[in-house]
Amino acid sequence: MTEPRVSGASGGATHKDVVCPFCGLGCDDVTLKVDGTAVEAGEGACGRAAALFRRGPEAAPSPRVNGREASLDAAIAAAAELLAGARSPAYAGLAADVDGVRAVLKLAAATGGSVDHYATPGMYRNLATSQRKGWIATTFAEVRNHCDLFVVIGPDPAKAFHQLYARVTPKTGRFLDGARKFVFLGGAPSDEAKAQLEGSAVETIAVSDGALVEAVSRLQALVSGATPPAGEPDLAPLAEALKAAKYPVLAWSASSLDEDGDIVIERAVAVVDVLNREGRAACLPLSGKDNLTGAYHASLWTTGFPLRVGFRGGVSEHDQLAYSTETAAKDADILVWTSAFRPEKPPASDAQLIAIAHPATEFEREPDVFIPVGQPGLDHAGLVFRADSTVGLWAKGYRDAGLKSVADIVKRIAEARP
Ligand code: SF4
Repeated sequence: MTEPRVSGASGGATHKDVVCPFCGLGCDDVTLKVDGTAVEAGEGACGRAAALFRRGPEAAPSPRVNGREASLDAAIAAAAELLAGARSPAYAGLAADVDGVRAVLKLAAATGGSVDHYATPGMYRNLATSQRKGWIATTFAEVRNHCDLFVVIGPDPAKAFHQLYARVTPKTGRFLDGARKFVFLGGAPSDEAKAQLEGSAVETIAVSDGALVEAVSRLQALVSGATPPAGEPDLAPLAEALKAAKYPVLAWSASSLDEDGDIVIERAVAVVDVLNREGRAACLPLSGKDNLTGAYHASLWTTGFPLRVGFRGGVSEHDQLAYSTETAAKDADILVWTSAFRPEKPPASDAQLIAIAHPATEFEREPDVFIPVGQPGLDHAGLVFRADSTVGLWAKGYRDAGLKSVADIVKRIAEARP
């Protein structure tokens, strides 16, 4: 537990500069008011964060085994017993701080089975290009300090990264002289984004449904100096602006793009490649809620493979399709669902269910074992990664509601295995 910065007159405490662990932007100036177990987020929190931090004064629910309240010891023993007989467990969700992810990977290595994070589909659209061709990606700080032309490809990322423009691209930057311009290609700023962009130059370029690949391909041809077939919209002015800018950045939210998102990303990366022949440009590929980025790194450090890793006979391997939650949940006899940041529901599956999850999770069907856990950055401290990968943030604990961390619970299950 950390020291409160300000004590409230009512006996509660107000904590300033709290790290928000949810979307991957890593806002670190949230104010939390904690009174007993009740929590309200104030200044610095977006609407999503305020909802996810909010807690009432009621006690956390008990663990349950087959729908009946059970002691923590009994629930841990029941989970260990289920796993002892597991043929093919699927470890899914994986929404935990880095210690929690490492504990799950270790348990999976011991029991066999697959491991995946529930938000990997967006990340794999990005990885499809970065693994095949590589890319020049930037960080939030670089964007803030240098970017003079920020081009959003596709739907506005602020729908998932709420304070993106306020946090990443304020109107001034340390090495930025002159104005910063924002262009939305094939998307439009949300109302929340418009408020953050007030006072900035903003241009929206509409693209017909399903034509984003073609538009970004034409943009690539134009910045290369080629003459692409005529088409709508006219992208020549944007191509010229990109060539004239000192540090243009192309950004997208991979999970918001359509099914052809990996091709859109590949073409956007190609635009950045061309711009780097004579100037400096970068992409800002966004994906990473609920510590997806930290889980990805932890998997790499631990197994040598990115997420969607499988363990068989003590050997690990990586297969994007076979070890995705979607595939693994169909074949699994036990689904181990971990979700500590929010009450995310586990996927539909016929497998028996061990849920190590947010206390407010509402299940479609009662888990065989339910163990409520604390939220990193509220109930306990933990390391979470920002979506631009470069920064691990230490999220502190601010209350004691009797909820253990995913790492604590998973380690105890591993120790209790017969
Ligand atoms: S924008 Fe993201 S990191 Fe910032 S307060 Fe909202 S959820 Fe948290």
